[in-house]
Amino acid sequence: MFVAGFAGREVPVAAVPLQDSPVPAALQRTSDYLTHPVFKTYHSETELLRYLYRLQSQDLSLTTAMIPLGSCTMKLNATAEMLPVTWPEFANIHPFVPLDQAQGYQIMFRQLEAWLAEITGFDGISLQPNAGSQGEYTGLLVIRQYHQRRGDAHRQVCLIPESAHGTNPASAVMAGMKVVPVACDSDGNIDIADLSAKAEKHRDNLAALMVTYPSTHGVFEEGILQICEIVHANGGQVYMDGANMNAQVGLCRPADFGADVCHLNLHKTFCIPHGGGGPGMGPIGVKAHLVPFLPGHQVVERGGSETSIGAVSAAPWGSGAILPISWMYIALMGGEGLTKATQVAILNANYIAKRLEAHYPVLYKAQNGLVAHECILDLRQFKKSAGIEVDDIAKRLIDYGFHPPTVSWPVAGTIMVEPTESESLPELDRFCDAMIAIRAEIQDIEDGKADLQNNLLKRAPHSAASLLTTEWDRPYSREQAAYPTAWTRENKFWAAVDRIDNAYGDRNLVCACLPMEAYQE
Ligand SMILES: *Cc1c(COP(=O)(O)O)cnc(C)c1O
Repeated sequence: MFVAGFAGREVPVAAVPLQDSPVPAALQRTSDYLTHPVFKTYHSETELLRYLYRLQSQDLSLTTAMIPLGSCTMKLNATAEMLPVTWPEFANIHPFVPLDQAQGYQIMFRQLEAWLAEITGFDGISLQPNAGSQGEYTGLLVIRQYHQRRGDAHRQVCLIPESAHGTNPASAVMAGMKVVPVACDSDGNIDIADLSAKAEKHRDNLAALMVTYPSTHGVFEEGILQICEIVHANGGQVYMDGANMNAQVGLCRPADFGADVCHLNLHKTFCIPHGGGGPGMGPIGVKAHLVPFLPGHQVVERGGSETSIGAVSAAPWGSGAILPISWMYIALMGGEGLTKATQVAILNANYIAKRLEAHYPVLYKAQNGLVAHECILDLRQFKKSAGIEVDDIAKRLIDYGFHPPTVSWPVAGTIMVEPTESESLPELDRFCDAMIAIRAEIQDIEDGKADLQNNLLKRAPHSAASLLTTEWDRPYSREQAAYPTAWTRENKFWAAVDRIDNAYGDRNLVCACLPMEAYQE
């Protein structure tokens, strides 16, 4: 018998002798596992620490520079917000413990739900979905259940604008709906005439519209009220993709302008760190008529209603352990602070759009000439003028010490830049200066001063190994390659590898495992 201490109490844990294993002998594993040397190389804390730091240093993270990934909202994950996640009261508790053992969690859930309801205007919140995409799936199931309960099981058509994130149609198909695309006009807005026509054509079977606001084109869609009205008039529900909520918090609320359901990416707008596949949270908010259908759970009593769609996640409150981050963010910022953050996020995006528009066309703007919290820069003209493609510019930005923005989404050949409110004016200027300097490098190609193939952009990024060679036969200097700005001299981020063929790599998986020779007997 071995005794584990927990919360000051001793808890006896019965030892399970191997021979009494409940796993039948035939199913017990006899082969070796974790045989790769990486599992046996680092034996001391010092060695493991250095190994982890070496891996970390190959990653251009927010610790080096802004990550202007449009739609991803790579904002500050403040240390104060993250600390409570490490507290044993949050970290070491099983999601299925009896509720009276997790009352603190229950209080946090209720407060967070109330805050998110106030921010979005909705009547009910479910913290169960673990990602934005899972929120989409959950929200559409809720809509489907609503139609079914009204005897409208045939309502299965889901309208989705062409600019939508790929998760939208994927979620609709998963929820058993039929996707009908809606066109966008030349300004990037939903083509309202096309929406009307499709909504009317499918009026007997219309289930929902999925709409992103502000749109993935980085603009506050001016027809949003009318769009929601058209869908409602034809018997459909409005699902709002809330991934761009960073442009709304404190300024406007999805439930006020017509959404029936909306997901929130807590790992975007509400500061949970993401990237690299870490856990996310995609709670949904719904209007009162949809509350009876919100997710329930079979193991933990939630008081869920009989009409609930059931569980969409293994745990009743999703990745509950990371919710203290969003709770802390809202509590620390307060209403005024959250509103200010949204305003600064929009201001920052417009600052970049204005500073760069003389160098790179801004693809979509509202009628007042402004963008929302992100902007799309059109790079397609450089293909003709200099043979330069969007990837060349993205890779060259790495030499300048920046993580590239979102590339070729939602429009091929463009980049989408989202600075967020977390970046200061000097950092925005440093990014703009880099983009302007790269424009000058493109100009040199256009003017015939630089080679069409063997140039700073086509060969970017430049690793230290590729520059520190005895021979140097390129038509540009090593200094231009590695130190294009004063800042890069001070704080150089070295790319770990030179140019790789992205498309080839995506289609040809190479395992970083041992070479084949290792398997020879
Ligand atoms: C990020 C994003 C999603 C998907 O959210 P995940 O949490 O990554 O599943 C959906 N729509 C838009 C517009 C997004 O930016």
